[in-house]
Amino acid sequence: MAKPLLEFTDRGIYCEQGRFYIDPWKPVDDAVITHAHADHAYVGHKRYLAHHLSKEVLYYRLGEISLQTVEYGETVMKNGVEICLFPAGHVIGSAQIRISYKGEVWVVSGDYKTQDDGISTPFEPVACQHFISECTFGMPVYQWKEQAQIFSEINNWWCSNQQQGLLTVISGYSLGKAQRILQNLDLNIGPVFTHGVIENTNEALRRNGVILNPTTRITADTPKDEIRKGIILAPPSAIGTPWIRKFAPFSFGYCSGWMALRGAKRRRAADRGFILSDHADWDGLVSAIDATGCEKVYLTHGYTASFTRYLNEIGFDAREVHTLYGEEEEETSPNLTPPNLPGGEALKEYGNDSDRQVLPLGEDLGGVK
Ligand SMILES: [Zn+2]
Ligand SMILES: [Zn+2]
Repeated sequence: MAKPLLEFTDRGIYCEQGRFYIDPWKPVDDAVITHAHADHAYVGHKRYLAHHLSKEVLYYRLGEISLQTVEYGETVMKNGVEICLFPAGHVIGSAQIRISYKGEVWVVSGDYKTQDDGISTPFEPVACQHFISECTFGMPVYQWKEQAQIFSEINNWWCSNQQQGLLTVISGYSLGKAQRILQNLDLNIGPVFTHGVIENTNEALRRNGVILNPTTRITADTPKDEIRKGIILAPPSAIGTPWIRKFAPFSFGYCSGWMALRGAKRRRAADRGFILSDHADWDGLVSAIDATGCEKVYLTHGYTASFTRYLNEIGFDAREVHTLYGEEEEETSPNLTPPNLPGGEALKEYGNDSDRQVLPLGEDLGGVK
């Protein structure tokens, strides 16, 4: 039985034929990186390959690395194996990695969303036999609304805060959510002020040629009365710190897919929760997997047990694999127990973890059909 083209090892997803890893979490010689989030782009590899829009953020986050960048659709050969990047729609520069050798085709999707956020190149389904997918929001309760609707709610909330003399603080993680918010705020309401962590990422993206709306970095010298005319864009880690408290009184809004869960707003101590995610929702996951026409699906992180069971029930050949992905930025899960929300009943059929079989690290996946 021939060895599969990709295997799951304790360093990451490995292509022995091509002698490279995809999003490895331990140091390797050759790493192909789906995107610059911390759970996918680790420091310490000898050589990196990534999309060119990830370049400056990777340098900013990882320092001086040896990095080759490519465009979407451009092919790189490694030891006879063809590597090609396709848009994942997750954050600016995020890519699905298509790997092919002698007719065997795998796609490692990294993190992705099917909704067009207007700043990341939209997700493109890529035909393959083996599809490696996340399922961060792989429960039917996660159904995203149109982005335009969420941002009209956000802009209305900002206006009403202004009328009440409250400063508006909105939070989203520094790569992805922050820029998505920035590009969709109505700047007729006021200017945008940024926390340093977000502004550093904005600057890296601008060095990469990305055009973003104007922002002002908050420093010790920024006049408070100027800031109060605008909105503060801050990472979730800034919330509850002395840095943010000095801007009181303010109303604090939190943007995350987890805001769909009851109690999530309270846990984040947010005044307003907006359901906005850079990951695919339930329909997005199912349609993306279906669109690949794949024979086998491997689920890396999220509601892997129940989602795997669901996929097997509807006719896919799906299995869970163990990886270190998912500890992503600040959009980590508050907990992964099935949400107690309307629709929860429907989950019980396949939400039972009793016969769960996770493919452990390093296990041979068996031959390819
Ligand atoms: Zn990510
Ligand atoms: Zn991730």
